[in-house]
Amino acid sequence: MSLIPKSHPRAKSLFIREKLIHGFDQGLVAKEGLLAQGRGEAFDYLLGEKTGKTAKNAIRAAAAQLLLAELPVISVNGNVAALCPKQIVRLSKQIKAKLEVNLFYANETRKKAVVSTLKKNGAKEILGVNPKNSTKLSGIDSSRRIVDKNGIFAADVVVVPLEDGDRTMALRKAGKLVITFDLNPLSRTSQTATITIVDNITRAIDLLITETKKLSDKNRKVLQKIVDDFDNKQNLSENIIQIKNNLTRRAKIA
Ligand code: ATP
Ligand code: MG
Repeated sequence: MSLIPKSHPRAKSLFIREKLIHGFDQGLVAKEGLLAQGRGEAFDYLLGEKTGKTAKNAIRAAAAQLLLAELPVISVNGNVAALCPKQIVRLSKQIKAKLEVNLFYANETRKKAVVSTLKKNGAKEILGVNPKNSTKLSGIDSSRRIVDKNGIFAADVVVVPLEDGDRTMALRKAGKLVITFDLNPLSRTSQTATITIVDNITRAIDLLITETKKLSDKNRKVLQKIVDDFDNKQNLSENIIQIKNNLTRRAKIA
């Protein structure tokens, strides 16, 4: 039971924190994951803690790209498993994507915790757990270069929410189309991904599921046009301008 009253002005943000702390206590989330959430929160604050038009455009492009994919894979880390496990499993079913556990701070116990959380939330198959199927991405030092040869290694489109820049770059170098959720439009991940959804994953994931449903009956030509009309650099720039405008407005009031 949460002790946070719904009327608290920062209730939503505090509920998200509770999920992370609960995930930490369950062995899902790394200490570093708690800090990553803090960095995200700061940008969420600057963005106004809502999903704007700019993020919605990125969500639409991401949905189209996922529907066009031959072999989409969703990479799941501890934070994602703690924040929105149900929705991640729902998205994977909706777009027929594989799920792969991939942790920056590799740890077998945490990996098992992520797998069991996903299973509890309806996942059937989870890749990234059988060492026999592991292989390496080149151009990256961390343990996260280890990927599943039937999953990320073979994928054409990879969803990597809350990801580190090195790995995003390695995935791009390996020729993958990368979709990420990242509240910081300045991060290396945001700047390197093919489509960056600059929004809190806890808000944007439901919108992405809805959008993939909406677009599911469109033909490939229509979907390809949505993808082609999307410019990630432009979208990131609009997010940065949004932050600037929010700050300018606040500066005037102060
Ligand atoms: P990069 O390595 O890409 O330059 P970084 O080192 O600043 O980024 P990391 O800790 O590697 O940050 O990655 C975590 C990213 O996830 C951060 O950019 C943070 O803003 C973002 N993030 C954290 N929590 C959320 C959330 N709930 N929703 C969306 N993004 C989030
Ligand atoms: Mg990083």
